[in-house]
Amino acid sequence: PTAAGARVVLVTGAASGIGRATVDLLLARGSRVVAVDLDELAIEGEVVALAGDVADEETNRAAVALAVEAFGRLDGVVLNAGAGGTLPWEDPGAVAAAERIFAVNLHGPMLGIRAAVPALRQAGGGAIVVTASVAGLRADPGTWAYNASKSAVINLVRAAALDYAAAGIRVNAIAPGLTRTRIIEGADPLLAERVPLGRFAEPGEQAEPIGFLLSPAASYITGTTLVVDGGLDAG
Ligand code: NAD
Repeated sequence: PTAAGARVVLVTGAASGIGRATVDLLLARGSRVVAVDLDELAIEGEVVALAGDVADEETNRAAVALAVEAFGRLDGVVLNAGAGGTLPWEDPGAVAAAERIFAVNLHGPMLGIRAAVPALRQAGGGAIVVTASVAGLRADPGTWAYNASKSAVINLVRAAALDYAAAGIRVNAIAPGLTRTRIIEGADPLLAERVPLGRFAEPGEQAEPIGFLLSPAASYITGTTLVVDGGLDAG
């Protein structure tokens, strides 16, 4: 255990947006954090950072090893890194681009779960939270690869929750709606009018439910997807 008994949490896609807000929230609550992103990232506090691609098995293994080496244990994992975008079906590069989206959004969490489970078992149990999307529950024109990847990861989470319940490892997802990060930079501000709450989410409004699902307050919640979309999917 760490000196303060603080929880040790691994966060992917930690340099920006929802991942960055999650790191800030966890640090403010006294956790130690291992932060993974494609590029080097500089964060103050009880953080160790790793540059790597979540679609690579080695990045996931190295991140878990780093948590154990730096902080002695691993209690929580936030598999948040994601990639998306509009993809014309008949574009010559569409298949390769879709495979990359599947690699980051589906294989990333699959590899992350596989890498983390031994360390979570060692800690006597833990919690995994995947950032899915409301795009996994509904579709929009042009984003078929993203839609498919996010639907798949929602069911990956359910299956993993069943397989690891006996080990005391809870596995859940959040399904964010439109959130003010780099991903929706340049999005039409009029899109906010489609949201019942009438605005985009701030990244911290996604970090809060992630923090909840990681915490003992969610001790009876596993295999579920918490929709955090301002009512978008209800309409
Ligand atoms: P963001 O672009 O601000 O942050 C994503 C981070 O993930 C970036 O720092 C990026 O470098 C990193 N990343 C991307 N691919 C990676 C890879 N292969 N390996 C390691 N790191 C990688 O975007 P965000 O909105 O904070 O996205 C976080 C998650 O939220 C994603 O899974 C995204 O699909 C999901 N999401 C976002 C929205 C939204 O409206 N912003 C809505 C629903 C779901």
